[in-house]
Amino acid sequence: MSKSLNNSRFSATHRPERSISFPEDVNGRPLKVSQFYGENTFDFLTANEIPANVKKELKEVSTSKKSLSKEHAEIVANAVVEWATSRGATHFCHWFQPLTGATAEKHDAFFSIKDGQPIEHLSASQLMQGEPDASSFPNGGSRSTFEARGYTSWDLTSPMFLVENTNGKTLFIPTAFVSYTGQALDIKTPLLRSEVAINEAALRFLKAIDIKASYVQSSCGAEQEYFLIDKAFYNSRPDLVMTGRTLFGSLSAKNQQLDDHYFGDISDRVLSFMQELDLELYKLGVPAKTRHNEVAPGQYEMAPIFANSNVSADNNQLVMGTIKRIAAKHSFVALLHEKPFAGINGSGKHLNWSLGTDTGLNLLEPGDEPHSNKRFLAVVASVQEAIFRHGGMIRAAIASASNDHRLGANEAPPSIISVYLGDTLEKIFKSIKDGKSFSPDADNSMDMGTQQLVQLSKDNTDRNRTSPFAFTGNKFELRACGSTAAIGLPLSVLNGAVAEVLNESAEIIEKEISGGKSIEAALNTVTKKWVDNSYNIIFNGDGYSNEWLVEAEKRGLPNYRTTADALPLLVDSKENAFLTKTGIFTPAELETRYNVLIERYNTLREIEFETLITMVHQNVLPSVVDYKYKLIEVIRSQKETGFESSVEKELYKRLNFATETLYARVDNLKNSLKGLPEDDQKKAKTIAETLLPLSEEVAKYCNEVEEMVPDNQWTLPKYFDMLFLR
Ligand code: ADP
Ligand code: MG
Repeated sequence: MSKSLNNSRFSATHRPERSISFPEDVNGRPLKVSQFYGENTFDFLTANEIPANVKKELKEVSTSKKSLSKEHAEIVANAVVEWATSRGATHFCHWFQPLTGATAEKHDAFFSIKDGQPIEHLSASQLMQGEPDASSFPNGGSRSTFEARGYTSWDLTSPMFLVENTNGKTLFIPTAFVSYTGQALDIKTPLLRSEVAINEAALRFLKAIDIKASYVQSSCGAEQEYFLIDKAFYNSRPDLVMTGRTLFGSLSAKNQQLDDHYFGDISDRVLSFMQELDLELYKLGVPAKTRHNEVAPGQYEMAPIFANSNVSADNNQLVMGTIKRIAAKHSFVALLHEKPFAGINGSGKHLNWSLGTDTGLNLLEPGDEPHSNKRFLAVVASVQEAIFRHGGMIRAAIASASNDHRLGANEAPPSIISVYLGDTLEKIFKSIKDGKSFSPDADNSMDMGTQQLVQLSKDNTDRNRTSPFAFTGNKFELRACGSTAAIGLPLSVLNGAVAEVLNESAEIIEKEISGGKSIEAALNTVTKKWVDNSYNIIFNGDGYSNEWLVEAEKRGLPNYRTTADALPLLVDSKENAFLTKTGIFTPAELETRYNVLIERYNTLREIEFETLITMVHQNVLPSVVDYKYKLIEVIRSQKETGFESSVEKELYKRLNFATETLYARVDNLKNSLKGLPEDDQKKAKTIAETLLPLSEEVAKYCNEVEEMVPDNQWTLPKYFDMLFLR
């Protein structure tokens, strides 16, 4: 056996389990989660050091357009320093989300010298504003048109938190990142603006129907999928290290056909990881709720309890970072890529989304009688209309090289955005469309044929896992979002789309009511209007099927298959008007995002192609040459001794044929890489339509070769290793 692969297999299957200590009280009894939840977050609303009048002002600032006074910021800064340093923090950083999609941080010490004396200090301005060098972050060419300098600005609606590492603690301050001309250089700023837009539209709608609320926020619960593989295998796969996915690899005989992994027993080593992950998340104030095995072997999921979208977007970044950090402690590497392994399920991120008021009303809550809940129906119809109008932009907002492998790849929602309503709602909407009355099914409970089990009432939204945008009980679920995505962008677009339609709904209702109609009648008008207009977006069938592709085309629903197809929508002024009108993005900001994303797509793909070519030369071909040499030796000695056999010659011939084909394909790919167009959009199209298929051909022949070369001659960890050995 190749020595290194042998060693990796040994390491992966002989890892000692990592044990951690759970927080305890003074008597050594384990604390309940509720007793230490959020201990590493600083919440100014509950902090003892902050006087009541300042708390009140901070609360107002965080829910209105009012700005914070420097004097009050200083009180918070002093309280935070005391809180953080007494817990052992030495540094603080402004934490932000540049357009790379990851997070960025620059650490500064609390330690300072005042009048010759060492002290710990954080000034109001250090809390409120930082100045990272904006020109080092992707800005999509806006450097020439805009001031390069940017600053980070404290987002007091998202709690600060302490990150604990082995050798110290750091205070993280969530911030937005903007240029001095006010251009959003990050993902958070437009999300916050989209919250303003959705708040204004929803309040107007509620006011029109006489429901009182001070503010409305969108909420999000992001289910996060990921793979865990042993670090020894990861480190021996250059493709995983460089690109996050395997660029080739022959499927093991058993993969996910038996469906025995989903919700299956969680192995001890993985459960230990999950327990530590949850512990860390609880301390950070991330409300981790569910954990389980996913469909593919080696694939898992966690979901938090939902929060407002801004906090949820920050939390999801923390979740992704913490998954990676804790995985490493367990000698795993967490793969967040949408498609680390070809041929088995990829990873997504389901964005559960709803709208809620400060008074606790969920606008998507159907209640006991959805058909007579006019407000609910009007809100659902407005969301449906929003998706009908702007499904293309939502597709663009989740477009990435990695998500392209998932969308439409037979096991994930297609790149066509449709809406799933569930049986009951679909029937209600159909009757509204047909102008008929609706009567609900009499018996709505499930007969499970036993007496011992508690009777469940049937969920109004039986699941359709193949829909990209599904109504699930009291929320919608955007399932097409990728597992690596920063969720702020799709949430901003979704909020913007719904804000646009809710505003129109409110306007219709206002007119009807001033014309003497009842609220109920006005709501009916709105619902009927949107149901009629966007009925075509409803699809309750199998989104993975080929028939749907044909049907969707007939209905005129757009299908932006690749990132190269989808991204230009961002800069199409007809398509993006709802985002610029609602003030969520300026046209220049959308152009910036387009430039950054398309360049990123091209660069990532180019790295993939180069890595693939290198691996063929450095790993695949050398294994082939060794094996060929062995075969030749055998064939020669057979000739010499007279013990002839056709098998070795046949093996040689087949291997040689596959290798020559592989070599020709690699050459092809290499040459095509040289002739790529300069223009980013044209380049992306060529990559998506020509080079990617070429690279898939290369992968196909690598796999063929892998299957022919003996295991002990192969140097790269196989799917078998990565998915099953732990
Ligand atoms: P499933 O896998 O069946 O969809 P999960 O429990 O994994 O269910 O995830 C459901 C997610 O939806 C959780 O994150 C939950 O907090 C979230 N959620 C529930 N209600 C709302 C809501 N009103 N707004 C946003 N998210 C919600
Ligand atoms: Mg879900």
